[in-house]
Amino acid sequence: MSGFSDEPNGAPTSSQPPLKAFSKIDLDGHDLPPSPAPSTPRNGRKYAFATELVYTEGNDQYNASSTPIYQSATFKQKPGEPAGEYDYTRSGNPTRTHLERHLAKIMSAERALVVGSGMAALDVITRLLRPGDEVVTGDDLYGGTNRLLKYLADNAGIVVHHVDTTNTETVKRVLGPKTAMVLLETPTNPMIKIVDIRTIATETHEANPNALVAVDNTMLSPLLLNPLDLGADIVYESGTKYLSGHHDLMAGVLAVNSLALGDKLYFTINASGCGLAPFDSWLLMRGIKTLKVRLEQQQINAQRIAEFLESHGFKVRYPGLRSHPQYDLHHSMARGAGAVLSFETGSQEISERIVAAARLWTISVSFGCVNSLISMPCRMSHASIEAKTRKERALPEDIIRLCVGIEDSDDLIDDLSRALVHAGAVQLRTDGGFHARLNEAPPSPNGI
Ligand SMILES: *Cc1c(COP(=O)(O)O)cnc(C)c1O
Repeated sequence: MSGFSDEPNGAPTSSQPPLKAFSKIDLDGHDLPPSPAPSTPRNGRKYAFATELVYTEGNDQYNASSTPIYQSATFKQKPGEPAGEYDYTRSGNPTRTHLERHLAKIMSAERALVVGSGMAALDVITRLLRPGDEVVTGDDLYGGTNRLLKYLADNAGIVVHHVDTTNTETVKRVLGPKTAMVLLETPTNPMIKIVDIRTIATETHEANPNALVAVDNTMLSPLLLNPLDLGADIVYESGTKYLSGHHDLMAGVLAVNSLALGDKLYFTINASGCGLAPFDSWLLMRGIKTLKVRLEQQQINAQRIAEFLESHGFKVRYPGLRSHPQYDLHHSMARGAGAVLSFETGSQEISERIVAAARLWTISVSFGCVNSLISMPCRMSHASIEAKTRKERALPEDIIRLCVGIEDSDDLIDDLSRALVHAGAVQLRTDGGFHARLNEAPPSPNGI
């Protein structure tokens, strides 16, 4: 196994721990290989992202083009010899290692780790906390994140501050020496608010140099955003979404630049046994190779649909629209607007009818799939947040979230138009066009 000096992005910066972070043997006697391994040839030039996504080097004995699935819980040892690179899949598996190295490369991280789901990734991160520690996070969080943090606040003595993380001044006011972790999501979902990672990371480290800034990058993926480059200490994301792209697996990804921190995260993964299974590692590896072609097409479609809805008078939230109040901030950090948008209709009832009338847009929680999805967050993904809390956090009950897929955008717009008309969300005009009713009283259930 090659050492860290071989990794593609040059030698670790001086703030990183020394290279021998992995030369020690862990509790169970494992001497695991470092991640990432080089896959960009050291010819002085780093490949572009699209190339890095698909290019891998393996050391398979038969030179298999697709990394084999090592569907084995154990690996045999030779009598009298120390255990080889792998002995037990909870601790390490060649298929998982291959994926982790590939991810470290595309996430520009010193180390990446993969676990059974996005929530498992957050669980691993929050185990760095101790009773009395304070966590500062947003007020428009992914429902599952909210639920896990509430559990920790109720049962583990963690103090959680939910604040409007889109306002750096508000965040600064709650930061202090007790702040152990700042947990950010951008854009938030479903309100699509943008968080200034750079400023908050700086302010957090000023308030407490040991505090960790963790960023949930599920909405944008490594194609569009590198939170580590903006000052985050940990980036995690749900591999279930864009990285896999097909809604056929659950996975979570963690990435760090500090090897000491990577060791701590790995300790929990090995201790609790949440590492990603070999078959899912293989599936995720396959999904990642098409990330760029999928997400770019999804983004083109999302832009068209956002413009369509806005031009017909709906209140649309999407960072690809100039009307987004934080358009400039978003584009100062990210390389694209992503493919999730939300819009309001003025009535919860109308929204429910739109969602029910759509055909191509299937009703589903989650996002990131090649298929287009429609949902009402207050009824579905965010239902675990109490109605009272949703209200406090100004989450409109009529908000519809669209997660745009790779279908033909004319078909998507046709289907959406039909659903809008059917639901009575729009006023038909004599010229054949239509306009959102928004501020009018909801029409009768039979619509127009
Ligand atoms: C889906 C999601 C998660 C959780 O990931 P799972 O793989 O479903 O556990 C976390 N954060 C965000 C923003 C998500 O969309």
